[in-house]
Amino acid sequence: MTKGTIFIDQEKCKGCSLCTAVCPQEVIVMQDDRLNLKGYHPASLNEANAHCTGCGVCAVICPDVCITVYREPQMKSHATTAC
Ligand code: SF4
Ligand code: SF4
Repeated sequence: MTKGTIFIDQEKCKGCSLCTAVCPQEVIVMQDDRLNLKGYHPASLNEANAHCTGCGVCAVICPDVCITVYREPQMKSHATTAC
């Protein structure tokens, strides 16, 4: 499975939680114990749950374009022959 990660701009986030609702891996959480400078509880990636696939759905749904997605390049496997 492809591995990915996201960066969420904490100060742009307006805490709408749309990204948490659409993430198929359920790895985005709202920070209920933290406020950004606008007074919203921002979203963040649950780092303890490293199952982000880099699918990009969260970035597409975010109305404020707060999310940048990074995806690990797929490694191609090469067959080797034994002599
Ligand atoms: S890129 Fe996909 S798996 Fe990763 S946090 Fe966003 S919606 Fe979830
Ligand atoms: S969809 Fe965007 S604005 Fe809404 S909580 Fe997620 S990162 Fe924040």
